[in-house]
Amino acid sequence: MSISKSNLKVIIVGGGPVGLTAAHALTKAGISFTLLEQRPSAVIDAGSNLVLQPEGLLTLSSLGILPQIMAASTALGKIERIDHKGRSIGNVDWFLNMAKKYVNAKYRHDDTNKASTGHAPRTLSRHDLTSVLYNTLPVDKQANIIPDKKLATITSTPTGVVVTCTDGSTYEGSLIIGADGSHSKSRAQMHSLALSSASTSVNEETPFLTTYNCLWIRMPISATQGIIPGISSETHGKGLATQFFAGDDTAVLGIYEPLPEPTKKRQYFTSADEQALVERWGHVKLLHGNDLTIAEMYAKRAQAGLVTLEEGVLEHWSWGSKIVLVGDAAHKYTPSTGSGCNNGMVDACLLAKELSAALEENEPIEAARIEAAFARYQNLRKDVSIATCTGSGRATAMATWSGSILSFIDVHIIPRRIVQNFIGKRITV
Ligand SMILES: Cc1cc2nc3c(=O)[nH]c(=O)nc-3n(C[C@H](O)[C@H](O)[C@H](O)COP(=O)(O)OP(=O)(O)OC[C@H]3O[C@@H](n4cnc5c(N)ncnc54)[C@H](O)[C@@H]3O)c2cc1C
Repeated sequence: MSISKSNLKVIIVGGGPVGLTAAHALTKAGISFTLLEQRPSAVIDAGSNLVLQPEGLLTLSSLGILPQIMAASTALGKIERIDHKGRSIGNVDWFLNMAKKYVNAKYRHDDTNKASTGHAPRTLSRHDLTSVLYNTLPVDKQANIIPDKKLATITSTPTGVVVTCTDGSTYEGSLIIGADGSHSKSRAQMHSLALSSASTSVNEETPFLTTYNCLWIRMPISATQGIIPGISSETHGKGLATQFFAGDDTAVLGIYEPLPEPTKKRQYFTSADEQALVERWGHVKLLHGNDLTIAEMYAKRAQAGLVTLEEGVLEHWSWGSKIVLVGDAAHKYTPSTGSGCNNGMVDACLLAKELSAALEENEPIEAARIEAAFARYQNLRKDVSIATCTGSGRATAMATWSGSILSFIDVHIIPRRIVQNFIGKRITV
């Protein structure tokens, strides 16, 4: 069978922000899809709030949904920074600089030479982001999002792939986009298929390394005193850093704590682990001139979660013409630079663009065309992803004062305007 736009069927595994972005981008490219999500809905009220950077806003703008995103989010301004004793260590203006930043064409999915949303980064809840992504899909495409479907295995067939879910149901398609997060089952299946096909492109089985854990806490803004939506603040110091962002409805806090030793082992946490972290660091203040502490925010929490912060970028982002990975399944960063979701959304749009272009080419070997599109997608995304991973890891190391040189730079060099302007122009998110 020859592959064309009209008969290509993509199975997206995972309905997080990146899987839903892929659904939009494929719809825009005229490629049909089925999305399988393990949870009861792609839109759920769970998870940390997110910061959308210029690249992410530009991506959402290219999908035609920027107005809805703007309405659901809050602009962020300068970041106030304090140490563990509540003393100012100098503010930074990354966010304001970013509003002016032009996005390098190499890392973008649209065709203009230069583009900028002109907007400062914005914060919104994961619920609101996925809700906008879901609700702005055409109704007939929403019907292609199938909840309560957890990928178990992927089988390669002469004409495509068969996905089997844990409930025994099966779905046939031409290829799979794995958007199922950092513990991706698609990635694990891709690894097994690459091994069994004696492929020369086999990833490490556990590609990501964890150096930090993170407790995130969401709190209704109504429970705070004197905190205005848009406020951003960080507390830095030896062994612990925090990031606080206030939105219109909720404020979110991310608390980063280094592990005694980096590990590739998956960790599981209980609420006792959460509470132990709060007992260790509950006294730490979150804002300059405000008495809000970690303990108080945890006590007033709407939601919280202790998670591992894996870091790494996959060597191979696809297997043949059958499986390709996007978002956290392909690359995982610490959230210090607010990059994971933003980069994942760009992945999804660039991949759809490359796929669409491949289907319009006129070459004889169809599978090879898809494979080449996957390779072009990886070429566009891998280097920027490695740079982002390194940058976010460094930002977390600096904020947790992992060494005297980093703490010196953090306190004495970073607050200088000339340094911020220099770095601001070079930030890749
Ligand atoms: C505390 C914290 C703060 C963060 N802040 C930011 C930020 O400010 N900005 C930013 O850009 N990024 C941020 N990130 C990173 C961001 O959350 C991730 O990069 C983003 O969620 C990745 O999206 P994704 O869709 O690839 O994966 P996920 O969000 O992990 O979604 C994966 C989806 O796949 C589903 N799934 C998993 N396994 C299966 C299966 N076997 N079958 C079917 N479905 C499956 C899951 O249920 C889920 O819906 C933050 C992360 C953390 C932990």
